[in-house]
Amino acid sequence: MSNLEDFLSSEEEQEIVQAITQAERNTSGEIRVHIESTTKLRHYDRALEVFQKLEMNKTEQQNGVLIYIAVEDHKFVIYGDKGIDAVVPDNFWDSTKNIIQECFISGKFKEGIVEGILKAGDELKSHFPWNSNDKDELSNEISKG
Ligand code: CA
Ligand code: CA
Repeated sequence: MSNLEDFLSSEEEQEIVQAITQAERNTSGEIRVHIESTTKLRHYDRALEVFQKLEMNKTEQQNGVLIYIAVEDHKFVIYGDKGIDAVVPDNFWDSTKNIIQECFISGKFKEGIVEGILKAGDELKSHFPWNSNDKDELSNEISKG
């Protein structure tokens, strides 16, 4: 995986967007994916920076989740907002991280992201169930660069 264009095909990107739409049918949580080549910052710090830049900290229940991926660095971060941290155990994202990690190790990038999104939605469901007043507060499109 040398650069962003080779990382995912446009079909694969559409599958990821659909996975977010599907996950958000079960939870009021808002999931986004950001993909870039590399960063000079610590990956956690960069994920936080992207989270704020995408205004993901402005959801009503503070339940936005960013899946941040630095392709060339072979790193990813799952960053959840305060509203989630307040009600879940510390190891809450481990199952989602493990799914993504396992797929990435075997080179299945699209699968890893899709499965991670669906798992995140499933985990969020019990704490932040979907309700009929739900709004799509954050775009489901992939953010890049
Ligand atoms: Ca929503
Ligand atoms: Ca959304």
